[in-house]
Amino acid sequence: MRPEELWQTVLGEIELSISKASFTTWFKNTSICEINQNEIKIAVPNIFAKEWLEKKYRGIIISTIRKHHPEINSISCHLNNGNNDKKNAGSKSVDSVVIKNNNQSLDLSGSKKTAPAPAQNRGYGESAFYSNLNPKYHFDTYVVGSNNELAYAACKSVAEDPGVNYNPLFIYGGVGLGKTHLLQATGNFIENKHKARVKYIGMERFANELIDSIQASKAKEFKNKYIQLDVLIIDDAQFLSKKEKTQEEFFHVFESLYQHGKQIIISSDRPPKSIPTLEDRLRSRFEGGMMADISKPDMETRIAIIEKKIQEKNFYLDRQIINYLAENIYHNVRELEGALNKIIVTYQLRNAEPSIKGIADLVEDLISSNRQKNITPQKIIEAVAEFFDIKASDIYEKGRKKQAIRPRQVAIHLLRKDLSLSFPEIGQSIGGRDHSTAMYANKKIIKELDSNKILQDQVKFIREKYMIY
Ligand code: ADP
Ligand code: MG
Repeated sequence: MRPEELWQTVLGEIELSISKASFTTWFKNTSICEINQNEIKIAVPNIFAKEWLEKKYRGIIISTIRKHHPEINSISCHLNNGNNDKKNAGSKSVDSVVIKNNNQSLDLSGSKKTAPAPAQNRGYGESAFYSNLNPKYHFDTYVVGSNNELAYAACKSVAEDPGVNYNPLFIYGGVGLGKTHLLQATGNFIENKHKARVKYIGMERFANELIDSIQASKAKEFKNKYIQLDVLIIDDAQFLSKKEKTQEEFFHVFESLYQHGKQIIISSDRPPKSIPTLEDRLRSRFEGGMMADISKPDMETRIAIIEKKIQEKNFYLDRQIINYLAENIYHNVRELEGALNKIIVTYQLRNAEPSIKGIADLVEDLISSNRQKNITPQKIIEAVAEFFDIKASDIYEKGRKKQAIRPRQVAIHLLRKDLSLSFPEIGQSIGGRDHSTAMYANKKIIKELDSNKILQDQVKFIREKYMIY
């Protein structure tokens, strides 16, 4: 087998065993540059890919290669310095997902041939421009765990080289899991390193400003302001849902920036395909770049976050207390932070040593397991209805509305799974339907969950809604 064929085969196998986002991020634009007796040298496009392939994917790469070349026992990665010669790249399937706008991209790197213009000439700085970035957010203060490492690495890479690798970058995940922190940190880094024009804005505010500008007959000025940016960071893009006019205007801003190789970074509480009524052209643009999700932090990451946060505030908690908090507050980082702030304020005021009992009393209302006990069928049904953008009554009242069928099935599954209701009880809570209807729907969802990634995401997001509130 020729090296490029071998690499194609290996990539094909790896693609099946890791997430699409990881595959796209770390394996695109890679190729085999040399096969020695026992070693394969892999050409990679950047230093991040090198680190990740060597550290994280070494095992899977070697074991996959060995199926075809049993004598290989090591790999090493080498930067290919932008040499994307297709003939020996041997990574066509991966190439197809890459957006190459190298030739259009801005020179934000401050390289010698084009020294960056002084800030004021770029309309950047004091009065002319308002980035809206909050300087308190940094990469240094962001704790990286398995729940967010991909999103973190993608943001770091974009921060180093905006407009080059992952454009747009789309970060999604539940509330309080660190999306805004990461976006803001990226913006701050780019502003400092590249002296670029960065703008951070929440989608809701973008929509409101747009409407104001339309009313004042200044829509054109509004758009012009945005298309002059080097980097646009849009937080909470789920607010595009049901806002047709905003979607249209945003699309034009997006296209203009994208065509000029400007970096766009977007966050949302759900993936593009789950944003109701999102225009296809926007969805495909969002999905066309790099997508990375952030999920809930695991126990170790929660411990690391607590340690980092108390250290930042010069506060001390013993290991037992840290473990107690990490074990009991697990829905999101914002809650964890809220608990820590409450503890710190209280104990600094009391000037006393925190005890485990004292802490437990203090954060009782924040303890995740307590709050889960308050989940009711009504809450689950409402969360499902909100997600699918229908009325809750469509789910629990008699009626045969077509658009309520899927939401009802999902609600049934969640009532069963999270509240352990019996099927007759579930039938009751969804409009006095027969228990066999509930059983059938539950079975159907369980079966589909196996292979339907969209459904898995939907269930995850809905659950996060009622688990948190
Ligand atoms: P989101 O935008 O996803 O709702 P935020 O970025 O606002 O979440 O995060 C909520 C709070 O938790 C912020 O104060 C943020 O600094 C903190 N936080 C979230 N994730 C992390 C992390 N991995 N490391 C440190 N702090 C974090
Ligand atoms: Mg946020």
